[in-house]
Amino acid sequence: MDEKLPWHEKLWQKLQLYLTNQRLPHALLLAGMVGLGKLVFARRLSQALLCDNPEIGGDSCGYCRSCCLFRAYSHPDFIRVSITGDSKSIGIDQIRELGHFLSLTSNYGGYKIALLEDVNSLNINAINSLLKTLEEPQGNSLLLLVSAQPSRLPATIRSRCQLISFKSPITSEAIAWLTPHVNSTLLDPQILLEISAGAPLAALDIANVARWNHRHKLFESYEQVSVGKKEPIQAAGSWMQGDINENIRWLISWHTDMIRLSMVSVPPWLVNPDLCSFLKRLASKWTLVRLFERLDAAIRLHMLCSTTQVNVQLMLEVFLSESAAEDSNSHYLEPNFRY
Ligand SMILES: [Zn+2]
Repeated sequence: MDEKLPWHEKLWQKLQLYLTNQRLPHALLLAGMVGLGKLVFARRLSQALLCDNPEIGGDSCGYCRSCCLFRAYSHPDFIRVSITGDSKSIGIDQIRELGHFLSLTSNYGGYKIALLEDVNSLNINAINSLLKTLEEPQGNSLLLLVSAQPSRLPATIRSRCQLISFKSPITSEAIAWLTPHVNSTLLDPQILLEISAGAPLAALDIANVARWNHRHKLFESYEQVSVGKKEPIQAAGSWMQGDINENIRWLISWHTDMIRLSMVSVPPWLVNPDLCSFLKRLASKWTLVRLFERLDAAIRLHMLCSTTQVNVQLMLEVFLSESAAEDSNSHYLEPNFRY
């Protein structure tokens, strides 16, 4: 992964100005949708601040002792806090450890940096502990909080951080960056970007031919279940393959698009423009009320699977059964996929 992403440059310059004026805040909230590279930026900034010989422009040299340690995830003045193991949240013990780390003297005489990878994942006790750390900044400490949903954070956390807001790059800039990173003979960078709401790293994430084909298979499977051509329990097996949360996010996006297609003959924007004709055909089999009902169910399914310890296969079977055609004798044309 590139460490310098072109759409970050203005934010980088802003931080360099803070540094030049010796006004770098003790806590930064890096906020913006998934796929804009907030973590890449946080790591670039951390490595640069710890580097022994930073370049003009503020980037790290890439070769010094600090840079080598940082790249090996072993720098003693840097700590990264994220969800571990099967846990669904970041707990108070992890935040206490972070606070203790920041309170210690720097090993190499420079910054002490803590990167909190997803601040929305903190449980309530962890948030209260983090507030204490934010209220008592230590010497050369820097706390980097990363959030894809800053509006869902307590105001007390937001107000104690300097907001660094990440925005999607303009389309031409995003396509120029994405094109050399994907197999553009098989995948269209523009469509990948549209599906990813303009977030280049999210587009890159799905630009994998195997995953792309898996998405098409899931859609075919869902369409067949919906019209009574496939048993929900049989279909649920393929939904368990790959990243289940991503699979369910596809499901949500298909229903969102089907609602758009049911309300307007040519919607100005679709999440899945490549599936437009198939989605339109499937949408025509359902009423608008039923489409909204299935969308709500898909959102509930995603929340349950991503935040609780549920039996995912069972939940998928229930969801697919409820999506199955009420009238399995409906005159439905055999899907004829040409991807
Ligand atoms: Zn260096």
